[in-house]
Amino acid sequence: MKWDEFAGWGKKVADWTQDYHQNVGDKPVRARTEPGDVLNALPATPPENAQPMEDIFRDFEQIVMPGITHWQHPRFFAYFNANASAPSVLAEFLTSAIAPQCMLWQTSPAATEMETRMMDWLRQALDLPEGFAGVIQDSASSATLTAVLTMREKALDWQGNQQGLFGKKPLRVYCSSEVHTSIDRAIWVAGIGQDNLVRVPIKGDWRGMDPEALDNAIQSDLDSGFHPAGVILCVGGTGTGATDPVDRCLEIAQKHGLYTHVDAAWAGSAMICPEYRHYWPGIDQADSIVFNPHKWLGVQFDCCAHFLKNPDDLVQTLAISPEYLKTHGKDGIINYSEWTVALGRRFRALKLWFVIRAYGLEGLRDRLRNHVNWSRDLHDRLAAEPDFEIVTPPMWSLWTFRFVPTENPHLYNLEDLNLRLVNAINDDGRIYLTQTRVGGTFVIRFQAGQFETTEEDVKMAFDVITEIARSLTD
Ligand code: PLP
Repeated sequence: MKWDEFAGWGKKVADWTQDYHQNVGDKPVRARTEPGDVLNALPATPPENAQPMEDIFRDFEQIVMPGITHWQHPRFFAYFNANASAPSVLAEFLTSAIAPQCMLWQTSPAATEMETRMMDWLRQALDLPEGFAGVIQDSASSATLTAVLTMREKALDWQGNQQGLFGKKPLRVYCSSEVHTSIDRAIWVAGIGQDNLVRVPIKGDWRGMDPEALDNAIQSDLDSGFHPAGVILCVGGTGTGATDPVDRCLEIAQKHGLYTHVDAAWAGSAMICPEYRHYWPGIDQADSIVFNPHKWLGVQFDCCAHFLKNPDDLVQTLAISPEYLKTHGKDGIINYSEWTVALGRRFRALKLWFVIRAYGLEGLRDRLRNHVNWSRDLHDRLAAEPDFEIVTPPMWSLWTFRFVPTENPHLYNLEDLNLRLVNAINDDGRIYLTQTRVGGTFVIRFQAGQFETTEEDVKMAFDVITEIARSLTD
């Protein structure tokens, strides 16, 4: 393809994008293809000769699109959302047009300096104190990995990278049972080992870590010859929105001199609204905090905000600077690749700049508040139905429920019935939900967070859920 054909195709793609976003609500949310359908539609061997863009675009529509689950659908109530707002899509278009590789300040000063400024805008939006510095990571999983590597290195007096872990006392990291699997993975990759990830029991309505149990677990490990390294807290866990008592857990971690990391991948976005900040009291005492603007802030994947009280700890853990990566003769510059595992970095700050400016913080807050309020209204309606049981209450816009028929309940295996219900809802296509387990019980999750969702969309979920559930017991 020649560049002089580009503008025509760019216009076509822009029209297609606008139409897609404006009409995606008419499609079934979840893809209806069977395993192998797309694979079999793709030729087994690559073309030897150039093919016209018309053919490529036609196949995109005919082969790819049927196999897409519509994450931008206004009734996507599954997992957590991955919003791609219009200004974010435009910024990503420009990012791919200029395609800079932003590993060092000198490889695109605008990208580095924009990143510094955008992370500080977010810091202010979250009301974190001055002094917290931020970096954009590709994902919360990566940010958590860097935090775990930092806690490992700090605990080992910066000798782990050099000497490895062999022959040393086993390091221990503490978290609740509700954390995301990215924590387990970080522990594996850091060489700490799953057996040394200590699950502290949960307690209370928010399903958060019991601070006394945390204290006891650390003390008992010290007495038994283990080497405590850090504590990972959860604010808005994936299954039910579980949230640790941040202030009390951080106090205990500090008492034992442990590095702390807070995973607020989903719920962190909500902290731009002052009224939700009571969920993370004392957050300014954390060493490391992660949240994903690519979930609930309208900035498309990937864009993960990682804040550090003392970035020097992270840089001491990860920085490596051979001669070919040095920038001589410039003082006070930041090379963000020293803050991340990957060397190469995309220009992710641009979409934050576009989105924050295009909506303003108030515009973003309005969206989040609507999601929380509409989700709670739906919760209240379903809670009033005798054949539905709310299993966990709303944490922001997330709560869980199950269908428990009132007539002849002994006829049903509730796990099987609720699995059939979530499958039937998703096959129906008007809404999309996913499941989790609470204390071993199979439950269905509801969360609202899509940027174009309306109150009517959330209300429709009530009709779909009740109608399909009751049809299963007719
Ligand atoms: N932490 C929590 C609480 C999550 O819900 C998720 C993903 O949903 C993650 C971490 C992982 O996020 P990422 O996909 O950015 O690695």
